[in-house]
Amino acid sequence: MPIEFETPKPITQAQFMLKTVADEMMRPRSRYFDEHEHEIPWDYIEFMHLAMKASGGGGGLVPREPSPPAPLPEGEGSSPSPQPSPEGRGSRPPIGYQLVAAQIESLTYGDLGMYHCLPGGGLGAAAVNAAGTPEQKEKFLARFKDEKPTFAAMCITESGAGSDNSAIRTRAVLDEKTNEWVINGEKIFVTGGDKSFSEYEKLGKGFIVVWATIDPSAGRAGMRAFVVEGGTPGVRIVKLEHKMGIRVSDTAAISLVDARVPFENILGSATVEKSTSGFRGAMATFDATRPLVAASGIGVARAALEFLKEKLAENGVQIKYGLPRQKLSNIEREVIDMEIMLKSAWLMVIKATWMADNKKPNALEASMSKVKSGDVTTKITQKVVEILGPLGYSREFLAEKWMRDARITDIYEGTGQINRLVVARQVLGYSGAELR
Ligand SMILES: Cc1cc2nc3c(=O)[nH]c(=O)nc-3n(C[C@H](O)[C@H](O)[C@H](O)COP(=O)(O)OP(=O)(O)OC[C@H]3O[C@@H](n4cnc5c(N)ncnc54)[C@H](O)[C@@H]3O)c2cc1C
Repeated sequence: MPIEFETPKPITQAQFMLKTVADEMMRPRSRYFDEHEHEIPWDYIEFMHLAMKASGGGGGLVPREPSPPAPLPEGEGSSPSPQPSPEGRGSRPPIGYQLVAAQIESLTYGDLGMYHCLPGGGLGAAAVNAAGTPEQKEKFLARFKDEKPTFAAMCITESGAGSDNSAIRTRAVLDEKTNEWVINGEKIFVTGGDKSFSEYEKLGKGFIVVWATIDPSAGRAGMRAFVVEGGTPGVRIVKLEHKMGIRVSDTAAISLVDARVPFENILGSATVEKSTSGFRGAMATFDATRPLVAASGIGVARAALEFLKEKLAENGVQIKYGLPRQKLSNIEREVIDMEIMLKSAWLMVIKATWMADNKKPNALEASMSKVKSGDVTTKITQKVVEILGPLGYSREFLAEKWMRDARITDIYEGTGQINRLVVARQVLGYSGAELR
């Protein structure tokens, strides 16, 4: 297969449009929402919902199947009817995940926290996509195209069960009389949990996907995900976290006490076999989303790096590309090194998303991309604050905020350490039990 480095047109078009959103809608409000934690950016939510609907999207940033290939113009050797590729798909290569990664990078260049307020299914829909049946996907995901912006979230983490999420204690028991699952447990750090679960006049009815065990003695094999509809009795948002960064993104603690959900809201099989297919459902969600988290960090780092270059230029420092390293000033070398780090992290995202688009198993590359981006994003934003000195530390500019925001990209959806473990297991051929 030829290696193609040219960015496909739909991606450059999306980047162009979203740059305006980042510059005009996000950046001017970044500081305000940083200082008014938990205030909801309604204008942005409504604007983005309408914009996504108008562009034929709706439902947030979700990878779409490639559309059938357009016939080439007469005289270019095309036949009028499109020819399918050997894999049976259209001859236009699939770019769904690559497009979403580029869209996310463009939006987080605007503001990482506000990107988390983008309406749509988010991690909740990703879990339905990874572990649900075709009927469940149709039933639960249709709402994201409704008139009102709608959110969904995913809750795995519990106190004492974050990195090792197979240790979750939330329990789902089937009530055979009513054919309902009864769920009890406490979930913490749920991104978008409030907007997905609470009732707001301006929002459609969302859901949270709750991971629970249906058989504690079965370990990972007993883990299943359940769609819990917004407003379900027995479920309460008990706390919104006060955070270091992405302060506009709500991060909820959720309690479930005898919460009842219909039998068919379990994603995947209700039978516990010896296999760990339930747990693999959770991991499949992450294979899809980790490269996207990686992309989200890169947008923040690019924002910081571009800002630094602007400030350097204002002070008469232009980066002289193409000179031998010994002829560059220390600052020039640092900026060029950061650009290399950023580009290499982005290439890793492209590789992982390209594999997802081409239905190749990408657990290794998904984790690699997240490790790389987490490191690069953290280092660049810190370095930018360092080089800018007092300007970097001052709240007059966003550099210090980007440094705070960036940190989370190396924590959620698997910390840097955990993703390194995933990479090591894959490379060395060890199981989770053998290398922990
Ligand atoms: C803002 C925010 C949003 C979040 N959103 C969500 C969400 O939407 N849904 C959700 O389910 N969760 C969410 N989380 C939770 C997040 O995924 C966890 O915090 C993360 O997985 C780490 O788990 P933990 O907090 O229990 O830390 P721990 O597992 O206690 O880890 C603490 C430290 O120990 C290290 N460590 C742990 N085990 C090992 C090991 N085996 N080897 C080496 N080092 C190790 C970790 O890397 C980390 O540095 C969110 C968290 C935050 C802060």
